Amino acid sequence: MTPRAARRVFRVHPRTYRLAWRGPRTSAMCFGFECGDGWADILARLTFVWRVMWCVARIDVIATQVKEKFGTLRYYHVVDAPRAWPRFLRRWAAIVADGFVRDAEYESTYTCEMCGEPGRELHCGGWWVTLCDVCVERRVIPT
Ligand SMILES: [Zn+2]
Repeated sequence: MTPRAARRVFRVHPRTYRLAWRGPRTSAMCFGFECGDGWADILARLTFVWRVMWCVARIDVIATQVKEKFGTLRYYHVVDAPRAWPRFLRRWAAIVADGFVRDAEYESTYTCEMCGEPGRELHCGGWWVTLCDVCVERRVIPT
C-alpha cells in the first residue's frame, strides 16, 4: 500500500496500529499494510469501528498483521477488553470484533485490490487476485 493510502487508514485510530513501531519479533505490523490501495476504504471503515469501540467501551483492538492472501484481505488482531470485565464479556468483545473483521475480509472478495472498484477473484499467473476488469486489462498485478 502506498504511504498516502496507509496514512489515511492509520489516521482514523492510530492506537490500533501502534505495533507498527515495534520490530518484527513483536508483530508483522512493522511491514505496514501488505495489500493494494484499493482496500484502503475497507480498512478505514473497519478502523473506524475500532475507534468507536475504544471511545465507547475502552475495547482495545490491536492489529498484528494486515495483508493479502489468496486474493483476499487477512486482518490479524488481538482484542483487549477492560481487565475489570468478567471473562464472558471480554470474550464477547472478541467475538464482536471478529465479526467486523470477517465482514471486511468478505468485502475484499469483490473489491479490486488496486483501485477499489467492484472486482472479482481471478487466478492469474499462479496467484489468486481480486481485480476489476480495467485493472486486469492493464495487467496491474499487486506486489
Ligand atoms: Zn481496479
